[in-house]
Amino acid sequence: MIAIVGGGLAGLACALELHRSGAEFVLLEAAPVVGGRQRTSRKDGFILDHGFQVVLSSYGAVASVCDIASLRPCWFESGALLHDGRRLTHLVSPFQNPVSALFSPAFSIGDKFRLARLGAELLFTPCKKLLARCASTADFSTRAFLKQRGFSESFFSRFAQPFFGGVLLDNELATSAGLFLYYLKKFLTGRAWIPAAGIQALPEALATRLPSTLLRLKTRVAAISHDRNGVVLENGETIRADQIILALDAPSLARLLCLPTPPPARGVSVVYFKTQTSLYEDPCIVLPEGQSRRVRHFVQITNVARGFAPEGWHLISATILDDGGLSTEQLANEAAREISGVFPRAAGALEHLETIQVPYAVPGQAPGFAARNAFPDLPQNVYACGDWERGASIQAALRSGIETAKRVLCG
Ligand SMILES: Cc1cc2nc3c(=O)[nH]c(=O)nc-3n(C[C@H](O)[C@H](O)[C@H](O)COP(=O)(O)OP(=O)(O)OC[C@H]3O[C@@H](n4cnc5c(N)ncnc54)[C@H](O)[C@@H]3O)c2cc1C
Repeated sequence: MIAIVGGGLAGLACALELHRSGAEFVLLEAAPVVGGRQRTSRKDGFILDHGFQVVLSSYGAVASVCDIASLRPCWFESGALLHDGRRLTHLVSPFQNPVSALFSPAFSIGDKFRLARLGAELLFTPCKKLLARCASTADFSTRAFLKQRGFSESFFSRFAQPFFGGVLLDNELATSAGLFLYYLKKFLTGRAWIPAAGIQALPEALATRLPSTLLRLKTRVAAISHDRNGVVLENGETIRADQIILALDAPSLARLLCLPTPPPARGVSVVYFKTQTSLYEDPCIVLPEGQSRRVRHFVQITNVARGFAPEGWHLISATILDDGGLSTEQLANEAAREISGVFPRAAGALEHLETIQVPYAVPGQAPGFAARNAFPDLPQNVYACGDWERGASIQAALRSGIETAKRVLCG
């Protein structure tokens, strides 16, 4: 018998792999629903993801664990609207439309050349090699990497910081350059989509492939039993298990193993507005330039997924990395002001719908982060997996779960 603790993507992918091989297991999840950090709620007919999250078509693991078509993917355009404080420029991916990208006024000729060269290099570099860099002492920060490659300050502030700041949830781009390059490759070679019913539909799709009797929700594990032959639940019940797989986020894992709290993580707030005034038509995000901005990026999400709002309404999601300690109301006012700075017709037309705070979104991923085994010396029959292993992403969480199941099956 195997006990999997945690029903996020890693735990679910692990469970699916064990189920395919006929192993006997039970999955124990503390929350009343599966999905962990992939959470969606509903309010007044609007669909609200807990943080702006997208799946990339270049994430190979997704197709191996679910039927993508059944999630009714809503596709983003591979590009963005850049706002430099005065005007909007439409940036298209150089890999989708090289001619348009060549003539785009978004970047200088020099930056276009540097980006094209970097993109070409990445096409021929396996993801494994890029991720290996995250474990190397030669890894440095994304900001330092872009500087070393000669990218201009304008490229940094107009594109790299708003776009990758939002992806890595890191305003300073102090995150590992290896991880940045991995993501850049995934974005260049894939397209972003979201499930029509919200991001939580993805983990739910995995769960529907598992017998419901093997999923125990509202079941928090309080400890690994002293003789290590199982886990002890919050209510005192012991579940016997020969092997224990801890498919947990890094802070929960540290708590359960009585280890020190892991290095600082990154959080995010998302402010949702409803409006009957459409701000723009394109199915892509808007990247406002400037470090001092509160809103890192925003998107009229209904341009991509019409079903996220009731008929006649549009839904705007604004991602905020640093809330500056502002109250929910102040934050919403500031976000509305910044969005109106980009689209003047938004002034007075945005109604604050909800603010969702995600204090733990992704682990801190400083240069060389993967070199340090965050959880060494696990007891012999205890395994751990999750997105903290190799760089937080949907792909990383799924792969970590699948590979851990294979290790357990190999004994
Ligand atoms: C705001 C935000 C935006 C993101 N954007 C993207 C994106 O655009 N693209 C992308 O690829 N990735 C993105 N990610 C990252 C991605 O969502 C995560 O990497 C992935 O969901 C992590 O899955 P996991 O299974 O490793 O961890 P989790 O989802 O954290 O799962 C851990 C599970 O363990 C459960 N648990 C904890 N303690 C216990 C206990 N004691 N007993 C039982 N159960 C317990 C929790 O309830 C949870 O369900 C984003 C994440 C966030 C939060």
